[in-house]
Amino acid sequence: MRASGSDPIREAARLLAERRNAVALTGAGISVESGIPSFRGAQGMWAKYDPMEYATLHAFMQSPRKVWEMLTEMVSVCGFASPNAAHKGLAALEGMGVVRAVITQNVDGLHQAAGSRRVIEYHGSMEELICVHCWKRYLTRERWTPGAVPLCDCDEILKPNVVLFGEPIPWLAQEVAEEEARTCGVLMVIGTSAQVSPACDIPRIAKESGAAVVEINPEETSLSGNVTDIHLRGSASEVLRRILEEFSADEETPSSPSHKIK
Ligand code: NAD
Ligand code: ZN
Repeated sequence: MRASGSDPIREAARLLAERRNAVALTGAGISVESGIPSFRGAQGMWAKYDPMEYATLHAFMQSPRKVWEMLTEMVSVCGFASPNAAHKGLAALEGMGVVRAVITQNVDGLHQAAGSRRVIEYHGSMEELICVHCWKRYLTRERWTPGAVPLCDCDEILKPNVVLFGEPIPWLAQEVAEEEARTCGVLMVIGTSAQVSPACDIPRIAKESGAAVVEINPEETSLSGNVTDIHLRGSASEVLRRILEEFSADEETPSSPSHKIK
């Protein structure tokens, strides 16, 4: 690893290389470059769909067909998306023994598609549907067709197995995520505004347990300047590509493969 000097990317790469037990917490921002809009901001889903009308468990129980207007868009957008350089970069870091787990608030399955193996889906996944009446589960791709609301064998309207506002976090995901936060050496917080509770507590738990917090986000968040130790301002794919380059610069010899990603 080259001397870090005042380059924050080099400094972050040095920390990751030294500690070798990093965990990533990702949010909607990491998938923006895969064509999936985030929820907040002018281009976000909330500009089109009021979350109180479309993204609460109460709304789903009252009018599932209406909520499926938004869900249909989410399912189709996620279905066409493929992982970008940031997802692939995290998978490469896991393969190198630098990152040991990804806690994701995303429901798009792109970390697994990129090759990450330890993925904690904190808010569930769009890939599965569940019946809120008889609890039967189905794979979305086997049950959902564009333009139709998916039905259970019992005729109830199915819900994606994601955490809507008003639903608790699946307890196993919550337990494992908090344990990862308490025991990691570096927490990489990537593409999240850290406004959704309780996911937004994870960086604080990691920090209080002694981890360094490295934030990757082009914007300031509520974490920047207090919980964050190193803020890498830029898109997730560009910053991860540069972090990988730091590792490659160190390890690239005629006999060792480079970790560059496309
Ligand atoms: P958010 O929309 O609140 O914040 C997104 C953050 O990403 C912002 O801080 C923004 O500055 C940053 N960002 C934008 N482009 C980026 C880029 N190229 N690289 C790095 N950062 C970038 O998202 P959130 O904090 O994840 O909270 C929204 C909730 O909605 C979460 O629960 C999430 O699961 C869900 N959601 C998921 C998806 C998905 O699965 N892809 C998409 C939208 C929303
Ligand atoms: Zn059913």
